[in-house]
Amino acid sequence: MPPSPKRDVGVTRILDIGPLTRAVNRLPGVGPARAERLAHLLARPSAAETRVFDLLSHLPTSVIDRRQLVAVADAPDKAVATLTVKIVRHDKPRRPNAPARILGEDETGTLSIVYFRGGEAWFAGAFPIGEWVRVSGLVEWWDGKPQIAHPDKVERVSGPNEPASDAFGLEPVYPMTQGLTPGVLAGLVGAALDTVPELPEWLDGPFLAREKLPPFRDALVALHRPETPHAVLPESPARRRLAYDELLASQLALAVVRDRERTQKGVARRWDEATIAALEKGLPFALTPSQRLAIAEVSADLAAPHRMIRLIQGDVGSGKTMVALFAAAMAAGDGGQSALMAPTDLVARQHFETLAAILEPVGIRVRLLTGRISDAERASALDELASGAASVAVGTHALFQSKVAFRDLALVVVDEQHRFGVHQRMALSEKGPRSDLLVMTATPIPRTLVLSQFGDMDVSRLTDKPAGRQPIETRAVALSQIDTVVERLAAAVARGEKAYWVCPLVEENAALDLEAATSRHRTLTQRLGPVVGLIHGKTPTAERERVMTAFRDGSLSVLTATTVVEVGVDVPDATIIVIEHAERFGLSQLHQLRGRVGRGDRPSHCLLLYKAPLGAIARQRLETMRATNDGFKIAEDDLKLRGEGELLGTRQSGAPTFKFADLAQHGDLLRTAADDARLVVATDRDLKGARGAALRLLLALFERRRAIERLRAG
Ligand code: ADP
Ligand code: MG
Repeated sequence: MPPSPKRDVGVTRILDIGPLTRAVNRLPGVGPARAERLAHLLARPSAAETRVFDLLSHLPTSVIDRRQLVAVADAPDKAVATLTVKIVRHDKPRRPNAPARILGEDETGTLSIVYFRGGEAWFAGAFPIGEWVRVSGLVEWWDGKPQIAHPDKVERVSGPNEPASDAFGLEPVYPMTQGLTPGVLAGLVGAALDTVPELPEWLDGPFLAREKLPPFRDALVALHRPETPHAVLPESPARRRLAYDELLASQLALAVVRDRERTQKGVARRWDEATIAALEKGLPFALTPSQRLAIAEVSADLAAPHRMIRLIQGDVGSGKTMVALFAAAMAAGDGGQSALMAPTDLVARQHFETLAAILEPVGIRVRLLTGRISDAERASALDELASGAASVAVGTHALFQSKVAFRDLALVVVDEQHRFGVHQRMALSEKGPRSDLLVMTATPIPRTLVLSQFGDMDVSRLTDKPAGRQPIETRAVALSQIDTVVERLAAAVARGEKAYWVCPLVEENAALDLEAATSRHRTLTQRLGPVVGLIHGKTPTAERERVMTAFRDGSLSVLTATTVVEVGVDVPDATIIVIEHAERFGLSQLHQLRGRVGRGDRPSHCLLLYKAPLGAIARQRLETMRATNDGFKIAEDDLKLRGEGELLGTRQSGAPTFKFADLAQHGDLLRTAADDARLVVATDRDLKGARGAALRLLLALFERRRAIERLRAG
């Protein structure tokens, strides 16, 4: 008797997801060694944490089509084909290590089948002379003759007209890793597919029908057992279905967490407007219209009783720090403290100097807290923050260590968000459970990415640059012209200009990078004299600070550096930046680097030195850089060229990237998923209804643990 669907719902649903979340070593043929290889391939923390669903999330990158049977004369070159030939001869290897050659014919020509290993007995059995054999593999033409080395498939057939068996169908091709063969992986994926249960539908029926999306299980099957060569493309219904599931899981998780955060009460802050007005009047410059607008938006959030969760997006040099400064001043006006977290020591120190110079004169105490300050300084800073004597703390990761306590942490400002993990941000937030949060990013993240990373966070955008800024002229120059570039640099230095010279970082070889930067420093010093400084990843802090100070003061005119010319470094009168091997940098990174100049009132130049010949993508990047200074446009282009992980720098920081979704292709789905998630939380915030229960499975499948915990906590 079938169980009544209504009563059965809860139990069946919990039981049914089991096979997908089970460890891969539960699949037949997976021992400890193979489980380790799979964990590695699937980028999982350990074999035990590698689930069947992770294996099924490993998508084919393409599909080999073996269905087309071709005649020998029509065989393609350097492509996979399937041919049917009659075996006419076996040629034994002529010398050791030479291949064995099997010749087969059809009416149109002769095909060589080549093996570098394998015994005669095996050849005789698999390729009997006078019999028909069907082979499929990569065909290559040599001296006008087609050849297949080590065919992927070999099958005896009765003759050329025998219909092709299933072995000669469509075959998914997966990214591989050492220690696994394509055959083994395909077998495991197949076994995994067989365990996929029928799951309750968590998507809205009318939506599925409108978008013509298949059910979850069918979609997995369609990707791994393709029935068309297009099955794995981003626009296939199966990919879109799973991409939507993945995006919905992430949006729903964000919505659930956000919903819990919102209902936590914030504090309605009050301050004296006259103080803020005086602060603005005292600035050496006028705020830009978008700084003004952003400050007004932040001030409304601070004054409201809910918690602020706001992103300040602004291109490099747009003056985000000022917005943070005003927010901190407002909080201080209410007796609240602020913590500003910067990505590096250097940037923290710079923010500290900016804030202290403006805030201390109006009686707002600012302290620096990094790993680099002396013990005595640290002890006094900690005291002042705990007692409330200091209102603003500027620092790095050191800020969220457990020793750091605030009397009343009202505001957390995170600069360059993507360098910090979400949990670090939360750790800092927890020091002030009702604190407001401001995130500042110089990567002008496209809207789609804001959504995918932060959910629907409030956003203020700094769209205009401070008045008087000169545009940066960007040119791409071949490395072969380097002598001319150095001569022009010498002339500029003689006129009193300052320049950065950036040498690229090749991740795999830090020693070589260092050498490149060191030798560039040497040649520049030879030509320009002792006005060239050098900083790189290994430069001791004291030395680095000395060099940076000398560059800022003007006793050094040129700063040679590896990419440690960190995001956020501010030397307003630097007017030239030369980026060597610009073709090795991503678009956003180039734009960030370029943002080191063009911060003052003098015209600036950016020279992109590239090594010819350029690949298509590199060429397009340099062209975009040349054509525009608009960070938002650049970010959109970068997303198209590279995908979201690199753009945000999350690949290194370990934040999750998507497996099924590709934001450049599935941006429309992301927006729908965000709306869908918001609606779900608005109508069923505990996910208790029928769809809600199914959605809990979705969250579990995509490991949205934090959201699940919040749901459990109620
Ligand atoms: P970013 O948005 O890149 O973090 P910063 O906040 O570091 O920009 O500001 C860049 C430079 O512009 C700093 O030297 C800062 O003092 C200056 N600045 C900020 N706002 C203005 C303004 N409205 N007018 C002129 N200069 C400004
Ligand atoms: Mg900044």
